[in-house]
Amino acid sequence: MSLLDKLDAVAAARKALLPEGIDVFGIPIEEVYSSTEAKIDDRRILFLGTNNYLGLTFSPACIQAAHDAIDNEGTGTTGSRMANGSYAGHRALEQEFADFYCCNSCVVFTTGYQANLATISGLAGAGDVVMIDGDSHASIYDGCRLSGAEIIRFRHNDMADLEKRLRRLGERSRSTLIIVEGIYSMLGDRAPLADIVSLKNTYNSTVLLDEAHSLGVLGETGQGLVEETGLIDEVDFITGTFSKSLGGIGGYCVSNHSQLDQLRYISRPYIFTASPTPATIASTRAALKLLQAGTELRRQLWKNAHQLYSRLSELGYQLGPEVSPVIATILDSPQQALALWKGLLDHGIYVNLILPPAAPEGKSLVRCSVSAVHSGEQMDYVGEIFAELREVIQ
Ligand code: PMP
Repeated sequence: MSLLDKLDAVAAARKALLPEGIDVFGIPIEEVYSSTEAKIDDRRILFLGTNNYLGLTFSPACIQAAHDAIDNEGTGTTGSRMANGSYAGHRALEQEFADFYCCNSCVVFTTGYQANLATISGLAGAGDVVMIDGDSHASIYDGCRLSGAEIIRFRHNDMADLEKRLRRLGERSRSTLIIVEGIYSMLGDRAPLADIVSLKNTYNSTVLLDEAHSLGVLGETGQGLVEETGLIDEVDFITGTFSKSLGGIGGYCVSNHSQLDQLRYISRPYIFTASPTPATIASTRAALKLLQAGTELRRQLWKNAHQLYSRLSELGYQLGPEVSPVIATILDSPQQALALWKGLLDHGIYVNLILPPAAPEGKSLVRCSVSAVHSGEQMDYVGEIFAELREVIQ
């Protein structure tokens, strides 16, 4: 098969997924009205598949900060963090993240994807082991591949399986990086962090926790699962993203290990790409303040999460194992998932469709994400439409 034949096969597979000509994985958003509403195909639709957990994309303070940064520092840095791309704002944001977590060190990256690539490949190398949960995000898998370390997967959230695999490693468990997520992006469940840190201590390993979906969502001040569980001192490295609860784009890693700073000199995804724009840094700094003070936003977010989760389970939908702002409806077949996704869109609701092999264990998912700024009426409307569609996808 030639290189181009492979792409023709992709085109054929995509064509099979085009219900009435709609490009499921490439829907153009024609206009954006607010954190929860936009125009698709000339119609007003409700966003129920973004990661805008605190609704900060339209925060006046964040928008103003971004405007000011463009006016004062221009549209881009046109350089790597290692060269001309580390402005005072980049350094200030690193300090603010370190202070937020009461940690020694923080490194800011251009995306959350790169934060994982850079941190994992900077920490682990040939001869080391990375031990990852089977439901890990692609950035974790890719970071592991880039590292050259041996990759071992354990069954999702299965502590007996993790322990068995650590035990088998013998002395090599000391050079093992265990990687887990605060809230998993597929099914919305949390990692059993207390058990994970206890295993890490028994086997003298190192733990990296990706708080991409839990930053701003869990814990009194929004630090994430580390705060909810009180285990911040037990986790070696925390990565996360600015593209979800902070409403921007970029990523970070924080740690009490001061060696984290050395990643700046060896980590290719940090060195060989341009740094975040001044506007991104400025809006993220403003958003981080709002996130820390966002107790009321978190209360509203969890109210919406509980409301939708219980409505969908009452209706008999099969859901992920626990309530969270990521609410995955699990369908038996890609056809059913597609029908539900299309039915929701026809009623003006945009959600995420996840088909095999992207979804775990060959499942097909229709994944909703709720936001603190979804109104009561919007949540009621979503419940009504899911009720109507229940018949369609039996
Ligand atoms: N980690 C996890 C768990 C994620 O879900 C994502 C994004 N979906 C990322 C990292 C990457 O973040 P970003 O999109 O900001 O690059």
